Amino acid sequence: MLLLFVDGVGLAPASDHNPFSTAPSPALRRLLGGPLTREAVDGDRGNGLVLAALDASFGVPGLPQSATGQTALFTGVDAPGALGRHVSAFPGGRLKEMLARESVFRRAAERGLAATFANPFTPGYLRRIAAGGRRLSASTHAVAAAGLRFRDLDDLARDRAVTWDVERDLFAERVGEAGEVRPVAAAEAGRHLADLAGGHHLTLYETFFTDLAGHRRWDLDPGDAVRRVDGLLEGVLAHRPEELTVVLTSDHGNLEDASHTLHTENPVPLLVVGPAAGRFAGLDRLDQVAGAILEVLAE
Ligand SMILES: [Zn+2]
Repeated sequence: MLLLFVDGVGLAPASDHNPFSTAPSPALRRLLGGPLTREAVDGDRGNGLVLAALDASFGVPGLPQSATGQTALFTGVDAPGALGRHVSAFPGGRLKEMLARESVFRRAAERGLAATFANPFTPGYLRRIAAGGRRLSASTHAVAAAGLRFRDLDDLARDRAVTWDVERDLFAERVGEAGEVRPVAAAEAGRHLADLAGGHHLTLYETFFTDLAGHRRWDLDPGDAVRRVDGLLEGVLAHRPEELTVVLTSDHGNLEDASHTLHTENPVPLLVVGPAAGRFAGLDRLDQVAGAILEVLAE
């Protein structure tokens, strides 16, 4: 199973300010018969394809945020409900405990399954993880507590990792210490990801380009974010081993409404392709994904 976590992507109706309906996205449109918008939600479409809308608000007031949303996704715990609020950016105390104890990666590893995190990390970030530094992502906490090896720049050089920006250009530019990094087309990165996922029971890939573009951080273009995700998906689906199920979802809305730069209360997409897709058809809340992943892995 391959979990594609795209940060800050909700499902909104098609409109002039929804980059999923205005920007080209050939792979998504081919798959869904149209863009990744609210209109495309149709539950189980059969033939190993599901598109559902997941509530990311959990009945908790305020805009859904990353730390609680990602904890809910990776652990299956109603993190916003437990804390009584949405927590942004990086998880602290209680969320870190949930991520350490309850994540799908830890449970998979405890069952002796091969799990991996596809993103590469620089030596500086790896030192911060080892030191238990502050301001680490939910994924980082979950993966570290599961005892999984973090991929590094050597893995990237061998195409055994996929960077958060998909095409490596911003990764190289922003990270500073990335050294010589060969840029790749999004579809090629998707092929690398499919190859990696084919060799593991559970693979996580995370991109926050989508959320950064929704916030217009670094002047990133929302349409470019859609293009990168679409190209990645194209490569993954073209090279997906038959037995691999691909699950794409998010933690909260943002990118799908380019009329402002804040998060949204829109539901997030749950797009599933592959033999286990039907097992995800009835889900309607973000904290139900982890349980479905574990059920499928247990088979
Ligand atoms: Zn987020």
